[in-house]
Amino acid sequence: MTDDQETIHRIGEIPEVEKAQAIGSADNKGDMHNDPDALPISRGGLEAGVKSWRVARSLDTLLKQINEWAPRRSKSSDGAIGDAAHASRSSDHNPWIVDSGVGVVTARDFTHDPAHGCDCNELSDLLRASRDPRIKYMIWNRRICASEAKGGQPPWAWRLYTGANPHDHHIHVSVMPTKMHYDSTNAWLLPSKVPTAAAQALTQSGAVNNDGDPEGTRRRE
Ligand SMILES: [Zn+2]
Repeated sequence: MTDDQETIHRIGEIPEVEKAQAIGSADNKGDMHNDPDALPISRGGLEAGVKSWRVARSLDTLLKQINEWAPRRSKSSDGAIGDAAHASRSSDHNPWIVDSGVGVVTARDFTHDPAHGCDCNELSDLLRASRDPRIKYMIWNRRICASEAKGGQPPWAWRLYTGANPHDHHIHVSVMPTKMHYDSTNAWLLPSKVPTAAAQALTQSGAVNNDGDPEGTRRRE
């Protein structure tokens, strides 16, 4: 992915860097990262005839900003698209939105790596405080919060998340299914290239060599 060119993939082509690591796998009993209080979706499959997919531009922008915010962060639990075995309209990790014939994935996971500046406690606080209208819901550390009132709770209130995957190694961010939201490339309200207090403390203590060299590797934890 480059800054000014979106990447469109064939259906079935899943680059490792875009594969949602924590969805639907045997060890998490098929957690689809969906909102249990959302209205049930009657259709089980994906749209027929869609030959290609891409990620919502707003989430590519968010990924880029998070990578700038924490350039040395682990990406071990990062990812956007679920595999075909778990294709369902009930998961935003599947390209169930069709935009000009291309399926659009409207969710991304970001790895919790506080030692390298990506603390999902802080990230979830920042995103929640931003009240960004692009956000549909977030799941982090056994809690879920939606931008709309859900489950008897007002917008942006945390609810208990009891899915099989506790989401304590990554935060899930879903964006709204409307194009003006999911494809908005406006900057998110995140500090840019400013180390978090925790990362700053580590840097000052010499524990992290913060030379700004991005780690392109993905490590399974
Ligand atoms: Zn997810």
